[in-house]
Amino acid sequence: MNIITEVVQKGWCVGCGMCAAVCPKERLEIRWNPRGEYSPIEVEGCADCSKNCQICYKVCPAHGNTPDETEIGKKLYGKAEGVQYKSETGYYLSSYVGYSKEHRATGASGGMASWTLEALLASGKVEAVATVGRTKDPDKLFEFRICHSVEEIRASGRSAYYPVEVSQVMQYILNNEGRYAVIGLPCVCKAIRLAQDIFPKLKRRIPYVLGLTCGHQCSKFFAEYICALGGGDPHELREMIFRTKDLTQPASNLGFLFHSGCGSNEIFKQVLWRDGVGEAFANGFFQIPGCFYCDDVFAECADIAFMDAWLPEYKKQPEGHSIILIRNTEADELIGNEACGSGKLKLSEISIKRVMQSQLNVINQKQSLLFDKKDSLSLRYYLYKKPMILQSRIRRIHFEISDKSSIAWNFHKKNLVEFNKDNDLLELSTKLSKYKKYQKIIRLPMRISGRIQRACLRI
Ligand SMILES: Cc1cc2nc3c(=O)[nH]c(=O)nc-3n(C[C@H](O)[C@H](O)[C@H](O)COP(=O)(O)OP(=O)(O)OC[C@H]3O[C@@H](n4cnc5c(N)ncnc54)[C@H](O)[C@@H]3O)c2cc1C
Repeated sequence: MNIITEVVQKGWCVGCGMCAAVCPKERLEIRWNPRGEYSPIEVEGCADCSKNCQICYKVCPAHGNTPDETEIGKKLYGKAEGVQYKSETGYYLSSYVGYSKEHRATGASGGMASWTLEALLASGKVEAVATVGRTKDPDKLFEFRICHSVEEIRASGRSAYYPVEVSQVMQYILNNEGRYAVIGLPCVCKAIRLAQDIFPKLKRRIPYVLGLTCGHQCSKFFAEYICALGGGDPHELREMIFRTKDLTQPASNLGFLFHSGCGSNEIFKQVLWRDGVGEAFANGFFQIPGCFYCDDVFAECADIAFMDAWLPEYKKQPEGHSIILIRNTEADELIGNEACGSGKLKLSEISIKRVMQSQLNVINQKQSLLFDKKDSLSLRYYLYKKPMILQSRIRRIHFEISDKSSIAWNFHKKNLVEFNKDNDLLELSTKLSKYKKYQKIIRLPMRISGRIQRACLRI
């Protein structure tokens, strides 16, 4: 058995694909598992792998036997002049809120990630960038790809709440000279940093790693579920655009546009976050199990982290605002200069406290993990706080829901009506809403005092 199989069997794998990219003997392939997630599969000849190189294991971000995000961040950014550190956010030099005037309409939030990728390309700091774009393949609606032009970068805007993996693009970068920027979720950024330590070529060729703040990733069933919610046939889902913007809605009511079927069954339709998508996402439906072991919210190994400005003054505005947290000195200069000058960006500085407030729910969830030490090799979250019992129970139910929802989706053959009547899921959902009610009551005094404090600040 290959050593990476143990990571998969324990449920820690996030399907990032780095193991398959770097296997010197090409003995791993990334394929769909029955839960609609990516998983490394051993191809012939892995029998004695574990005794030999173990490179797949050394670049895997999902177990605790490699340097964690704090150590990696310290090595990368800890010595920069003016750098600061918080356990919740990792290292940072500066933080901004705002948007790119040209990229906002086609961006997930303020379009700052696309603007930055374009700026890196246009300034010659890189020759190509690896982004995630939509495909025409119904079996794989999104994929990582190498973009050489501004047009390609613009076509890859918005977020993919859909599994994507880096095996092909990393192999491309390993085989092709050049300077590349790569954008990824926190797990991918960590995997790149681990791989850069082993392959100097990757260190030279990827001078910029950009990260997306992440609550969690979903299996491909999530896209099918959205399609079914909108009345489409999930067996015939052909395209999905996550995070369309409806200018009659606040930014927080995200749009999801799907295309399913053909001929008389063809449907193009937008479903909104509040049509049931948000509830499913927040309750852990189809969540990748490995995400339950990750406590990196702000992509701590990335040169810049991009996120939504989930703050009261921004989330009501339908066009969207980005928050960016910068760790790399060159990126800080690039964005700082542009922010002051060209008129293409509308950015203002924002305090780290506000950045954290914008992700409060995610911080609470990801950095107050319930898993006991024996459940996971990753122990970093014990640096933070011990979760309250109720919070732990809620997290445990999310975990069970993520498991049961995948099983039920398959069992009921993607039939939404039958899925909604699934006994196990109904029982878990009832338990979850009961615990959430208790949590609201417990948190009421805190919420009231927070409101009073905010009101006093405004006076
Ligand atoms: C699974 C997931 C969970 C997220 N969770 C949160 C959260 O909890 N809180 C929060 O504030 N923000 C979260 N984000 C980030 C948020 O959705 C936006 O991506 C971010 O605000 C950047 O917006 P933008 O307008 O600047 O980016 P855009 O200009 O739209 O550019 C986005 C860039 O990210 C790339 N991309 C999209 N999806 C992926 C992916 N899956 N993997 C790698 N690259 C990708 C695109 O190719 C594009 O280049 C999440 C994103 C994803 C994909």
